[in-house]
Amino acid sequence: MYDYIKKQDEEIFKAIEGEEERQSSGIELIPSENYVSRAVREANGSILTNKYSEGYPGKRYYGGQEFTDVVETIAIERAKKLFNCQFANVQSLSGAPANVAMYFALMEPGDTVLGMDLGHGGHLTHGHPTTSINKVFNFVRYKMKDPDTGEIDYDELRRVALEHKPKIILAGFSAYSRELDYAKFTEIAKEVGAYTVADMAHIAGLIAGKAARNPFDDGFDVITTTTHKTLRGPRGGMILTRESEEIATKINKAVFPGLQGGPHMNVVAAKAVCFGEALTPAFQEYAGQILKNAKAMEAVLHRENVRMLGGGTSNHLILADVFDSLGVPGKEAETVLDEVGITLNKNMIADEPRTAMDPSGIRFGTPAMTTRGMKETEATRLAEIMIETLRHKDDVAKKQTLREEVRAMCEKFPIPESFV
Ligand SMILES: *Cc1c(COP(=O)(O)O)cnc(C)c1O
Repeated sequence: MYDYIKKQDEEIFKAIEGEEERQSSGIELIPSENYVSRAVREANGSILTNKYSEGYPGKRYYGGQEFTDVVETIAIERAKKLFNCQFANVQSLSGAPANVAMYFALMEPGDTVLGMDLGHGGHLTHGHPTTSINKVFNFVRYKMKDPDTGEIDYDELRRVALEHKPKIILAGFSAYSRELDYAKFTEIAKEVGAYTVADMAHIAGLIAGKAARNPFDDGFDVITTTTHKTLRGPRGGMILTRESEEIATKINKAVFPGLQGGPHMNVVAAKAVCFGEALTPAFQEYAGQILKNAKAMEAVLHRENVRMLGGGTSNHLILADVFDSLGVPGKEAETVLDEVGITLNKNMIADEPRTAMDPSGIRFGTPAMTTRGMKETEATRLAEIMIETLRHKDDVAKKQTLREEVRAMCEKFPIPESFV
């Protein structure tokens, strides 16, 4: 691998080699990251990158599409099967552009979206003040009723929906550890005549692997997602439509030519390979193990009296208020854990008393460590190591010992090359 880069471009080769070493010798707990199979990487690095395929299968603007049509059609068919829906657009370049295209497909400028409060787990692309999309559409919010149980305040959601008459009610998050009651969303949406959209970027792999509920089963209209988080595919996005051809057509037009130019066919091929993997029984096992590992970590935090937002987890991630429980702010926790070879990110907690740049919490999750084959025993030990590290954050010798233990775990569970 990398023979040609090595010969031709020493600087980039060295950086890739360094990153490869970093990924293999440390534990990745960032809940939005994962390790893809060699097959996904081969498709991603394939000669399909050379081809322009503006348009959709059978309706392209350039010639020479006999193979790109095969690739994209297979990706679409597998996506539909995986998520139990009738339409799929697999051209979105990533999660953020998928959401932008979805907004423009379903709304006119000035229309309103009702989404999860950004401090309660919602994503930047759900209308953060610093995003461009916030200048085009109007965003109103719902929240958790109680950050210590994680339950959404559905009465408030309904009240805000009745008051603001949103065009879209958006379910989905990147820092929330409980399942949503999708049926409540569809019920309220029906009452106010809104579309229901689930942004399942974080949990797509759990849904595909039948370890989490599929919002389509509760009548959601549209799902947007990334393909590179729990779904374990290439960096990319996707938009699914349950049954309305009218919505699906609007979405296709909003992706191309509305927002994007030529699709990245190498990535579309890698998505198809990833969906093929996700359709196997082995992937369902993987998705189930992600949850078991998160539960094992949750048990340690409970035992050690570390406050978890939502009171714990029902998915792949945990948000811990390390400032409240251990006296270590999130930013410092991120740095200290990095020193022992555990990568995760600082995160704001609900109604954050500190600042965005130096918040109270950390967010971590099990998708990547589960890909390495680690199970509850390792998850338990990792959670213990994290707490020990934070409790002894200034003890250099202790941290060195823990770093060695983490390295040994990584050697015992190397990143696998294939999953099927
Ligand atoms: C990660 C994420 C996105 C954005 O995906 P990118 O690929 O980084 O653009 C959008 N929505 C949610 C909920 C996410 O977690």
